[in-house]
Amino acid sequence: MELTELLYGPTGKIVSSICILVILGLMFMINVQLYMNRRKKAYFSLAVSFLLVIAQYVIILLLEMSSLPAAITAYVIQLLKVLAFIWINLGIFQLYNPTGRKLKLIAAALNALAFVVAALHLYLPGELSETDPILRFLAGPMLLEQYLIALILLAALFIRPNIGQTKTYLFSLGIFLLSHAIHMMDAYVLEESRKLLQVLEHLLPVLYYTTLFFIVFNRIVELLQAVFESSIIDGLTGVYNRNYIMTYAHRLVKRRRASVIFCDIDNFKRLNDTEGHQEGDRVLKAVARILRDTVGDAGKVGRYGGEEMVAVLDNAAGDVKKIAEKIRKRVEEETKVTVSVGYSRYREGVTAHELMKQADEAMYVSKKTGKNKVTAYTTRTPKMLASLQQ
Ligand code: GH3
Ligand code: MG
Ligand code: MG
Repeated sequence: MELTELLYGPTGKIVSSICILVILGLMFMINVQLYMNRRKKAYFSLAVSFLLVIAQYVIILLLEMSSLPAAITAYVIQLLKVLAFIWINLGIFQLYNPTGRKLKLIAAALNALAFVVAALHLYLPGELSETDPILRFLAGPMLLEQYLIALILLAALFIRPNIGQTKTYLFSLGIFLLSHAIHMMDAYVLEESRKLLQVLEHLLPVLYYTTLFFIVFNRIVELLQAVFESSIIDGLTGVYNRNYIMTYAHRLVKRRRASVIFCDIDNFKRLNDTEGHQEGDRVLKAVARILRDTVGDAGKVGRYGGEEMVAVLDNAAGDVKKIAEKIRKRVEEETKVTVSVGYSRYREGVTAHELMKQADEAMYVSKKTGKNKVTAYTTRTPKMLASLQQ
């Protein structure tokens, strides 16, 4: 068998149908799983759409391999194709937008219209269409075909501006339209004769569903990523939360190369009391940004408590002191508050919690000896702390 034979004729149809069934089967399973876990409506619509396409291609396969009544089957396939297109695009829209009442109504109306158009066809005289090519052309599943083209245009006009990945989406619609146009030419005009058209008719749907796979998959990854980020990032300041920054510190300590810089804003309560909580929040964000800017790639920044922030650095020897001093200086120069800073470097045998506590203690020494300064943790710090607390 030659390679090209895989792409046209009945074999071509079977090969492309199987490819599509595999892609759609995977997408269906992923979306059912996601819907069960997250109850997001988009996953439901997509699962329905994939089920419709799967039904469509199972029928296509059965038609090739056995003798189903061709005319009515072609019609069912066409109806499934239209319904699947509606649900696919509904699902993509829902991946980016909330599902309102209006959207539900529009989707229901489009589905109902598909059935109305399908029913209309049944009233067209069947016998006539067998003889006259023009009538055959009109009485075939032509109305549904035209409805599908209208739907593609509607999708380009109304869905594309309201979602992400617009270029890929437009590309997928283009592919779908092209494959549909070729299918129509092949079915109605050229009497299924041209090899190249047949090859395209078989390949384009595979390309379409592959593109769709990427659109849906990209968006799912994006959504899951956002859920993950919101679970590790502090909502107000945009730096990591305490939980995550501790995990990060544990990881670095295991590799024996962590340093912690602990910052606490001076007289922050007074700022809140005199200028209001909103101004307090604004300053908190500004301080967080300075920490992030200053630390850069050297480590990560987290909010440890109310107005306490820490930088966990990925080294134990380097520029810790310099970075700590730079943070202190920039906060003093660029905001209306100052910070007291303490830092501690990794020493053999220390845990992440101890390292954090040491930096906190060094910060406390700064706080008790005048504020707006940087103190390093040393072996003498506990003693000093004890005398300061007396
Ligand atoms: P010190 O110089 O000793 O650190 O004094 P301080 O006033 O900064 O310390 P204290 O711990 O007494 O007060 C911290 C204040 O931080 C109290 C709380 O109202 C405020 N705070 C904590 N979280 C937030 C927040 O998310 N937004 C705002 N605006 N204020 C917060
Ligand atoms: Mg504090
Ligand atoms: Mg404070």
